[in-house]
Amino acid sequence: MTQVPQQLLNDGRTIPQLGLGVYQTPPAETETIVRAALDAGYRYVDTAMFYRNEEGVGAAVRDCPDWVFVTTKLWNADQGYDRTLAAFDESMQRLGLDELDLFLIHWPVPKIDRFVESWKAMIRLREEGRVRSIGVSNFRVEDLQRIIDETGVTPATNQIVLHPGFQQRELRAFHERHGIVTTCWAPLGQGEALRDPVIGRIAEKHGKTPAQTIIRWHIDSGFNVIPKTASVGRLPENIDVFDFQLDHEDMRTIEALDRSDGRIGSDPATMAMGVE
Ligand code: NAD
Repeated sequence: MTQVPQQLLNDGRTIPQLGLGVYQTPPAETETIVRAALDAGYRYVDTAMFYRNEEGVGAAVRDCPDWVFVTTKLWNADQGYDRTLAAFDESMQRLGLDELDLFLIHWPVPKIDRFVESWKAMIRLREEGRVRSIGVSNFRVEDLQRIIDETGVTPATNQIVLHPGFQQRELRAFHERHGIVTTCWAPLGQGEALRDPVIGRIAEKHGKTPAQTIIRWHIDSGFNVIPKTASVGRLPENIDVFDFQLDHEDMRTIEALDRSDGRIGSDPATMAMGVE
């Protein structure tokens, strides 16, 4: 079975470099998909309160004899110190787990300006041993700088939109300086990047699929990556990326696909769903 490498986090813990994302995986199908993923060798699942499928993730993971790394996220409406603590308990109840591997603030929501308080609650949860690692998602450089300055605690990871058409160089440079692992959401550009002829040519050269080629680009770039598929048939394809490597030229060619207007999803500066 495929062995996924582990990455070291700045708190001394480790995280598998590749996991399964379950955004928009229907709640009723999630347990089946995650069980199939575990059968295919995945040992890391990325969910969120917002996805409404933590129950299905927990049901599948609890049955697995191996350690399965689970990430969940604090929803915008639950930001603030006390609400973060309560929302964590609710997520853990839905997951049916005693300890969580990684808890993330889903969006900074600068409009309500509560992320420093939420971060302080996350620090407490880690001190109490209820969560092993804490991090953030969709944070900008200024948001990261603020929680570091105000608490002295650097997030283990920042989960951000990152795919060949949107490569987030400035944010990555900040991550590198602070030992923050870059976790990539929408790594396949939500499917769109798979149709890029440049990706198609590199895939053909290696006898791999476009999805495998892009996921391998993330791996060879040192990112943490959580491609999603709700199709059981594609699960093995998306994890079968450890028997080849992209060469220098392939890497440069994919790096050249970066576009300033390639962002998918909301702008973290204004995203305030759940609190508007
Ligand atoms: P993705 O880039 O992983 O694309 C998923 C889509 O690509 C699938 O729905 C399918 O249409 C297609 N696909 C996947 N594998 C394929 C294959 N082998 N062949 C052909 N098509 C294939 O996009 P995503 O789901 O948005 O992102 C991945 C994960 O990131 C999510 O499931 C979620 O866990 C996380 N995420 C986080 C945030 C955040 O704000 N933190 C936002 C969005 C997603």
